[in-house]
Amino acid sequence: MKYRTILLFGAPGAGKGTQGRILGMVPNLYHCACGDVFRNLSVDNELGRVFLEYSSRGELVPDEPTVQLWRENIEAHTRTGRFNPERDTLVLDGIPRNAHQAEMLRDTLDVLAIFYFTCPDINKLVARLQRRALHDNRLDDANLEVIRNRLETYERETKPVLEFYGSSLVKTIDATQTPVNVLRDILRVLANLT
Ligand code: AMP
Repeated sequence: MKYRTILLFGAPGAGKGTQGRILGMVPNLYHCACGDVFRNLSVDNELGRVFLEYSSRGELVPDEPTVQLWRENIEAHTRTGRFNPERDTLVLDGIPRNAHQAEMLRDTLDVLAIFYFTCPDINKLVARLQRRALHDNRLDDANLEVIRNRLETYERETKPVLEFYGSSLVKTIDATQTPVNVLRDILRVLANLT
């Protein structure tokens, strides 16, 4: 059985995390951010160390351990009843992060829509990431060099995921708006989907 899925898609700093956390409070939506799954690993975990190594450079963790960790996480949450695939729609942030991951998850995800958060102003993204670094203690957002690498990685590796799924699923959301207005635009589309 495939998971009914909505993807939150867009550059780092576009506001996916903020909206994902809000959507995760709506009954029958289950929010999962792949970056959070990695950050919850302990530092004495082997993959936790690999994650630190890659994320501190602004690079993606290799696909196989990433998808495996994500699967284990979602299966554990299914066993404990936090996620119920029969009832809930997954709201995914941060995965799939490249076309190969999308291919690996082809038989797992039934993607209903992709919310594509657009923010053409790179300086705005950088400023948001730097603010977040202070609040959330995120090493990967503290350093300008790493931020630039994260944005380049997004352009080069993550953007092709849009082509993988095709334009008919893509719902463009103007991420330069206030969070309330971004949420309004998402809910308008969601109300007709779920
Ligand atoms: P995020 O919180 O989504 O910005 O993710 C932070 C970091 O975690 C990324 O820069 C990557 O190093 C790693 N990461 C998160 N999700 C993935 C993924 N699906 N594939 C590879 N690396 C990931």
